[in-house]
Amino acid sequence: MPRAMSIAQHLEEVRQRIAKAAHDASRDASSVKLLAVSKTFPASDVRAAFDAGQRAFGENYVQEGIAKIAELADLRGDIEWHFIGPLQSNKTKLVAEQFDWVHSIDRLKIAERLASQRPEGSRALNVCVQVNVSGEASKSGVEPEQAAALAHAVAALPGLRLRGLMAIPEPAGTLDAQRVPHARLRKLFDALRADGLDLDTLSMGMSADLEAAVLEGATMVRIGTAIFGARTYTH
Ligand SMILES: *Cc1c(COP(=O)(O)O)cnc(C)c1O
Repeated sequence: MPRAMSIAQHLEEVRQRIAKAAHDASRDASSVKLLAVSKTFPASDVRAAFDAGQRAFGENYVQEGIAKIAELADLRGDIEWHFIGPLQSNKTKLVAEQFDWVHSIDRLKIAERLASQRPEGSRALNVCVQVNVSGEASKSGVEPEQAAALAHAVAALPGLRLRGLMAIPEPAGTLDAQRVPHARLRKLFDALRADGLDLDTLSMGMSADLEAAVLEGATMVRIGTAIFGARTYTH
């Protein structure tokens, strides 16, 4: 299907949205990292984004991500691959071996498996604890009350480096409504740092709510649709 605008043009638009939101929040635009979420899109689209300067990519499904990493092996040294989807125990090994980051740690068992399966000699796997900041409506992520205990346990594991927190808030219609769950995650993040954890990553904000996320302190926004277009799910 032909695109009205190229991936490079979409990327530029997203960069401008981030820059404007950062400006509105009196933040430096360079304090917000863009993660391009390439799930369901082919390796050729990742390459097009790479050619337009994008270096960090997010994938949700293990097999699909591994296949893309293999297809783009020539870029491996320059790309950062982030796993951002739900992770089952029987899939942790491939993720520990192939990815640079995992954003979706929601229980200790998964973190322990990743820690023990991270290959000897490779750099620590960067991880975030995923928190359910939207209450009952959302199924993934640890409950906010349990986030601190999980974060401290994960931070103590070898082979992993706990970088921060991640959330996928429920969609909301207005900027003010979107800010509420992001502010909740930010508060948790600040509390963990005050408690001595060395965290630098607040992974929140997607195509529809990146402005709200940046206003509330996001350091990494995960953008799919606004870069690659609408997805047709086959999973
Ligand atoms: C799909 C996905 C995104 C990107 O969502 P868009 O609305 O397409 O920008 C971000 N984070 C996670 C965890 C996702 O699964």
